[in-house]
Amino acid sequence: MRREILVCQQIVDLVTEFLEGALAEAEREAFEEHLATCPDCVAHVGQMRITQRLTAQLRHGAAGDGLRGRLLDAFRSRRSPWPGRHTGDTEAG
Ligand SMILES: [Zn+2]
Repeated sequence: MRREILVCQQIVDLVTEFLEGALAEAEREAFEEHLATCPDCVAHVGQMRITQRLTAQLRHGAAGDGLRGRLLDAFRSRRSPWPGRHTGDTEAG
């Protein structure tokens, strides 16, 4: 039984596919095996995970451009409900 051993460079190459779940099972196992022994790559994968999530959010944000304007309209049309409260300062002699 041949065991694949990945080096750090391969982790860097495969991290995107790993996060997308696009790796074959054997590749994923080799990937995780490397992570178990290499804190540097664990940190790298963590960074990439965050980056990928932000990128995905940006993509969604670009699609919903009109939302911001709609929110602003909603805020504008919503009048402040606070009544002008008169505080009668009664000076008790
Ligand atoms: Zn590594």
